[in-house]
Amino acid sequence: MEDQICQQCGRCCFTEGMSISATQDDLERWQSIGFDDILKYLHPETKELWVDAGTGKKLKMCPYIREACRLSDQRIVFFCGIQDMKPEKCAAYHCLRVELGCNIKEISSEFSEDH
Ligand code: SF4
Ligand code: SF4
Repeated sequence: MEDQICQQCGRCCFTEGMSISATQDDLERWQSIGFDDILKYLHPETKELWVDAGTGKKLKMCPYIREACRLSDQRIVFFCGIQDMKPEKCAAYHCLRVELGCNIKEISSEFSEDH
């Protein structure tokens, strides 16, 4: 059933995904693979993510979210640009929207106007 799988609406990244911090395991993993790019978006003291590390200002959105037009139905979808390296909090996210039935029409129109 289509509403039982991830609809790639991106809402988790635009909402819950904007209030996460890196874990110690994240930091060690990123260091071990040389994924330094993410340090630009990590608060050096609080370890909050999606922050300009230089100014401490919160970004408007996660810098790794990607947008594409799905060929099968021409729908705008969102996906993670760092799937294999994403923060533990993102990887562990359990989507209640999928269980409840993601309202994809409402969500895609909401975000496609802004992005
Ligand atoms: S909110 Fe749920 S359905 Fe939408 S992209 Fe995230 S995991 Fe998928
Ligand atoms: S790292 Fe990936 S899953 Fe996490 S908020 Fe960013 S785009 Fe979404």
